[in-house]
Amino acid sequence: MRISVLYDAGSNDDKYFSKAEAISRRIGVQPDNSWDGHVDVPDLETDPTLKDILKELIPDEKIKMNPADRLMHSFGKSSVEILKLRLGIFPEVVDAVIFPGKDDLVNLMKKLDHKKVLMIPFGGGTNVNGSLDITSSRKKISLDTKNLRNLEVHQNYVMAGSGFTGKDVENELNQKGLTIGNFPESFYHSTLGGWVATKATGQESNQYGGIENLVLGVNMATSEGMINDQVVPRNSYPLDMQRMSLGAEGKTGLVTDLYIKKIPITSKRHYGSFMFRTYKEGINALSQMKKFPSVARLSDEVETSLSLEGEFHGIAGNIFEKYLNLRKVRNGSMLILVNNDSRISEKPVSGVYSTKIPAKKWFEDRYSRPALGNLLWKKGFIPDTLETATTWDKLYPLHSSVREEFNKTMAEWDAKGIIMSHLSHMYESGACIYFTYVLWKEKEQLDLLLDVRDRLIKSFSANGAAITHHHGSGEYFRKYLDSGLEKRMDSMKDPLFSGE
Ligand SMILES: Cc1cc2nc3c(=O)[nH]c(=O)nc-3n(C[C@H](O)[C@H](O)[C@H](O)COP(=O)(O)OP(=O)(O)OC[C@H]3O[C@@H](n4cnc5c(N)ncnc54)[C@H](O)[C@@H]3O)c2cc1C
Repeated sequence: MRISVLYDAGSNDDKYFSKAEAISRRIGVQPDNSWDGHVDVPDLETDPTLKDILKELIPDEKIKMNPADRLMHSFGKSSVEILKLRLGIFPEVVDAVIFPGKDDLVNLMKKLDHKKVLMIPFGGGTNVNGSLDITSSRKKISLDTKNLRNLEVHQNYVMAGSGFTGKDVENELNQKGLTIGNFPESFYHSTLGGWVATKATGQESNQYGGIENLVLGVNMATSEGMINDQVVPRNSYPLDMQRMSLGAEGKTGLVTDLYIKKIPITSKRHYGSFMFRTYKEGINALSQMKKFPSVARLSDEVETSLSLEGEFHGIAGNIFEKYLNLRKVRNGSMLILVNNDSRISEKPVSGVYSTKIPAKKWFEDRYSRPALGNLLWKKGFIPDTLETATTWDKLYPLHSSVREEFNKTMAEWDAKGIIMSHLSHMYESGACIYFTYVLWKEKEQLDLLLDVRDRLIKSFSANGAAITHHHGSGEYFRKYLDSGLEKRMDSMKDPLFSGE
């Protein structure tokens, strides 16, 4: 049996075919179109004793021990995991997958012995930080949250089950005139519980904030039973379950429900775009804004030229290109803006207005873009992303250092690649900068990828930037955190959900 290991970006390959070709041309390699994104599921031994223990605690139909389900619950969507799978290197696979309802949880948590069993919560499996890449001498049980999908709309807040995907909860809330307010690119598949556990943030964070700003409290299933937050506007406790679960990647327990703010649905969106001669000029203009639009996304020159690739066709396209040439910004840096309802934002202090079209197009495609990554994987390339955040004054120097480090690494490995970036998620003090790069080398692909990642993350630190802004610390980033901080985080873990 074969399973797909790539992110499910829908049937959008056609939309991105020409962009994937453009990337190939710029890298200067046309590798074989050789992989279909699938792997063969290996034979796996099943532990009948584990099945017997689980059957005592949860209905049989909520337990899966077949190899395909177990493998699907044992990796995320990071480039490291996908590349390993493409190379035939399999992760340590979980021993069972369970799909409990809320009523099953207390019994499960109380009766399972943490010396023998490790619980690993699973939402949509879209994390990109290795948080499901766990090795353990204990039996590993993946706890899929699919059946945790209750929804209650109260006068001042909403309570929603952690197993809802973004898309499904948004559909439900929209019918009640509300919106969830968090729109990560993985919106169709990532879950509310996963957002809390990785401290995710969405594309409209300038308006709504990250998940930490949307959640008022959580309920948690732990080895000591349920621990529920009170729903209050603020408390002065040193800790509550909301704070203990944010970014904890399921190591402090399972988030069963979230109490979230009631946010009215957007009825109208306003779009705009601006071109700057350089990325540096764009960063400078953004840094001077006092109120940011709901979405502001500034692409560097490489990312801008790729997003405009193939767009200057027809009479309107030709006129637009001539206009950009005339204003000397044709090869510059593009800012797209989206504003919800009457949220007013300032215009940037410089930049050439470049119509609504690029912003509208970006918005329409906002969840389908991972299809481009899939095409690159299938062609034989290694696409990857790393994101960070720093203060306004450090953003451009960081961008230059990271590019320099990338090019140096490519030369040392005799590899080929391309790197680009954009700014998104704006704050008064700074912004998130998101790097996308595509690598190619015929051999030593995993060593190359790991070295590039290591050097870029170290370059973030050296430039005073965060290890990660919104992907969560995961197994792959933890080693870069301050060891004292890591020790403190360890002290909060639940033994049933953590350990070696
Ligand atoms: C194409 C793509 C685009 C992405 N875009 C964004 C983006 O725009 N913004 C962003 O922030 N991230 C983004 N991500 C990363 C990813 O979607 C987020 O990290 C997301 O929050 C993971 O949610 P999930 O439900 O898939 O969690 P999973 O991958 O299933 O799990 C992630 C971690 O959370 C734990 N966990 C899951 N559910 C629970 C629960 N109920 N209780 C306790 N722990 C739990 C798991 O054990 C694991 O440690 C993207 C990823 C991809 C592949």
